Amino acid sequence: MNKWVICGTRNTYTYIEKGRDILNAGGSAIDAVEEVIKLVELNPNDWSVGFNGFPNLLGKIELDASIMVGSTRKAGAVAGISNYVHAISIARKVMELTPHVLLVGDGAELFAHSIGFKKVDGPSDGSLIQYYNNIMEGKDLLDGLEVPQEIKDLAWRYDRNLKDRLSTFDYKGWYNELSKEYHGTVNVIAMDKTGEICSGVSTSGLALKFPGRAGDSPIIGAGNYCDSRFGAATIVGNGELAIRLGTAKETVNNLSNGDVDDAVNQSIKEVLELKERGIIQVLAMDQEGNVSACSNQSLHYILSSSENPDIERIDTLLLKEL
Ligand code: ASP
Repeated sequence: MNKWVICGTRNTYTYIEKGRDILNAGGSAIDAVEEVIKLVELNPNDWSVGFNGFPNLLGKIELDASIMVGSTRKAGAVAGISNYVHAISIARKVMELTPHVLLVGDGAELFAHSIGFKKVDGPSDGSLIQYYNNIMEGKDLLDGLEVPQEIKDLAWRYDRNLKDRLSTFDYKGWYNELSKEYHGTVNVIAMDKTGEICSGVSTSGLALKFPGRAGDSPIIGAGNYCDSRFGAATIVGNGELAIRLGTAKETVNNLSNGDVDDAVNQSIKEVLELKERGIIQVLAMDQEGNVSACSNQSLHYILSSSENPDIERIDTLLLKEL
């Protein structure tokens, strides 16, 4: 078998080439997934992954990540990591070196330290702290910062009155407000030339989340699931919905019954059944390397394969109501 396929969420656009090259040269799916995600974790312009993602309510970054291998169903995950930027690599080591699946907070950092990961203090340009202070002071998010146009284009999402709303919140109201827009995740799924499938996700979670909040990304079955007999699925969006519905595992179950378009559609229908606010995107690959994604708002994903190595940007299927 010489076929390989790699797909990722839209924030992998310029980075998926790295995974393509690894797979094309005969490298493993897990290496391709890890290397692409590491590049996104370092991207200074990504607001929802790595140290440039938005912090929690106390201004502290807490990263979540997981990785899963299809043939063995082995998985590793970390939640609430603050001092190590490559959450995906630590998740991989949890899978490879420990009998556990998920390590959180201090324990995850102790593990990272013990196996030689280097502590990193945070973004060197201080922009994260400036973003956070601006939000908390009720200023425009980008006040006082030199930022690229692509960031400016996204800035409408970040409300200058957030501080006022925070000071008067009813807890759930505040939370619903944040979960509407202030988040994102990198997802990558790869199939290598041996037919192995691997899926990985990494995120800084919901902006201004309550300290200690873990999303779906480190929860196997919620934000990430991979089984080579059927395929893999990964999630972007409101993590609480994906945890409650077991969306990644649900999608892989759907893959055992139908084609990949039906599988992702069915999972978004399950979300819509709840009639609650929240964005969800499901990205899936079946056991033959067919890829699809569906979401309840317009999004796109990135695809490259041995059949068409050019980096393609594809709109997700859109399902806004039942
Ligand atoms: N799923 C992530 C979380 O809930 C955020 C996102 O993908 O938008 O932490």
